Amino acid sequence: MILDNYTPIWETEEHADLREMTRDFIATEITPNAERFAENHQVDRDLWNKAGDNGLLLISVPEEYGGGGADFSHEAVILYEQGLAADDSWGYSIHSTIVAHYIVAYGTEEQKQRWLPKLASGEMVAAIAMTEPTTGSDLQAVRTHGTRDGDDLIINGSKTFITNGTQANLVVIVARTNEQPGARGISLLVVETDGLEGFERGRVLDKLGQHGQDTRELFFTNMRVPAANILGGEAGDGRGFAQLMQQLPQERLAVAIVAVGMAEAAVRQTIAYTKERQLFGHTVMDFQNTKFVLAECATETLAAKTFLDYCIAEHDKGRLTNEQASAAKYWTTDVQNSIIDRCLQLWGGYGFMMEYPIARMYAGARVQQIYAGTNEVMKDLIARGF
Ligand SMILES: Cc1cc2nc3c(=O)[nH]c(=O)nc-3n(C[C@H](O)[C@H](O)[C@H](O)COP(=O)(O)OP(=O)(O)OC[C@H]3O[C@@H](n4cnc5c(N)ncnc54)[C@H](O)[C@@H]3O)c2cc1C
Repeated sequence: MILDNYTPIWETEEHADLREMTRDFIATEITPNAERFAENHQVDRDLWNKAGDNGLLLISVPEEYGGGGADFSHEAVILYEQGLAADDSWGYSIHSTIVAHYIVAYGTEEQKQRWLPKLASGEMVAAIAMTEPTTGSDLQAVRTHGTRDGDDLIINGSKTFITNGTQANLVVIVARTNEQPGARGISLLVVETDGLEGFERGRVLDKLGQHGQDTRELFFTNMRVPAANILGGEAGDGRGFAQLMQQLPQERLAVAIVAVGMAEAAVRQTIAYTKERQLFGHTVMDFQNTKFVLAECATETLAAKTFLDYCIAEHDKGRLTNEQASAAKYWTTDVQNSIIDRCLQLWGGYGFMMEYPIARMYAGARVQQIYAGTNEVMKDLIARGF
């Protein structure tokens, strides 16, 4: 079948070994537990430690900070396998692909030494808290703020829709930390939350899909944090918005990778199902319509894979532009939703039952078009380059 024996342009033997290892890890530690994760609205806490023990966390962070010392394409292998396993419970990407890289890129040496090894081992779990009840796409309008008190900042505000919101104990908070208007007043504040007074987790949010993911509100009431925890130290004060903008392409590419992995999962699972399901004395696959639909879905997946691989290769060379990352994010997540929708139809009523992965994929995929910057915002960013 056309998706078999596909080799990404950047693939080496090392990537192939990592793929096998990740596949085994997910098959052992995640897939059999998916139902429990969904019931608990979180993965098992020790999943992080096990992933750390297997070298899967912070794989593209320098070894001197406990990371794997590899490049982004290795991160891409793990993300793709997560999509291919149709897993949307584990907040791996936020922790490893996003937060760790903020610290690598902008942290002081002391901050890197303090936090990265703990993230690499799974001792700490990371979240990034940008979105507020009153502002999502319009990030410059954040209201969470810190007031100086000696060497500390007293933080007040709240965040919503925060992935890893239950388990995270290292939260990067987007907050106003000085009197400058607009973007120049915004910093990234790294907060260690264990036992921190004034830090509170709100309710676990009841979502359409991704039930195994711990998405929560966070509240900060007179929460005292050393100003030295501003990412980059005092030099990072007011630099938060620029830092976010520089890292967002990697975050968007990560969403795109999972999107295509999951599209491939939908195609493969639907091919298997339609070859088995009997009606009118033959299989669902025997209908010409089924063959045409799946031929289209497999072709679109292959096209998306090649686009993705181009973006991954460009990113590894430091050349992926904001516009290209936005294009990858919006287009692949649209493709993912469209493919899952067409595949689901071929499962008949079973496609509507949550016990079937295709139904869970359908519900979980929708938010891919919304988070990490909505697809409308992505198109706006692409058009700015015209
Ligand atoms: C499951 C889930 C997990 C999430 N995880 C995190 C997380 O870990 N951390 C975090 O900080 N946030 C997280 N988010 C928040 C997410 O990033 C925001 O929901 C998203 O950025 C959109 O913001 P909003 O919900 O406030 O929508 P709004 O910004 O209110 O958007 C409403 C509508 O306006 C449209 N719109 C906005 N701007 C434009 C424009 N310029 N042109 C045209 N249309 C526009 C949008 O596309 C959308 O259709 C998560 C959200 C969900 C649902």
